[in-house]
Amino acid sequence: MDEKEARELLRLAAAARERAYAPYSGFRVGSALLDREGRVHLGCNVENAAFGPTNCAERTALFRAVADGVPRGAFRAIAVAADTEGPCRPCGVCRQVLAELCPPDMPVIMGNLKGDMEILTVSELLPGAFTLEGGRSG
Ligand SMILES: [Zn+2]
Repeated sequence: MDEKEARELLRLAAAARERAYAPYSGFRVGSALLDREGRVHLGCNVENAAFGPTNCAERTALFRAVADGVPRGAFRAIAVAADTEGPCRPCGVCRQVLAELCPPDMPVIMGNLKGDMEILTVSELLPGAFTLEGGRSG
C-alpha cells in the first residue's frame, strides 16, 4: 500500500465519520476497511444511552464486512479518522477484533482531520494477541 492509497482510505474514513451517531460524547469517528477484492466497507461509531452497547467505527466496518460475506483474513488495510490532536488510534477492544479478523501484517492507517497520518500493523498494535491460532501475531 503506497502513501496515495493510504491517504485515499483515510479520506473515506473521514467522510464516514460524518455518519457517526455520537450524541453523548460528541466524539465522531469514521473508518474505511479495504478488502482483497478492492471493496471498501465504511464504519462509524454508534453510541447508546446505556453506553455498553456502543460500537466503535473500526468494529462497525469489520462486522459490516463480515456480514457482507468477506472471509476472515481477506482484508488489505483499514483507516480510522477523527478530530483528534494526533492520529486517532484504535481502542483495545478494536485491536483485539482486528487481530481476530485481519492478517497480522495488515496496515492500520491512523489519521485525523489535520492530515496527520501514522501507519502500524495489526500485530504492532496488539503484540502477542489472543487469537484462534494462539499467539499467531507478533
Ligand atoms: Zn474501538
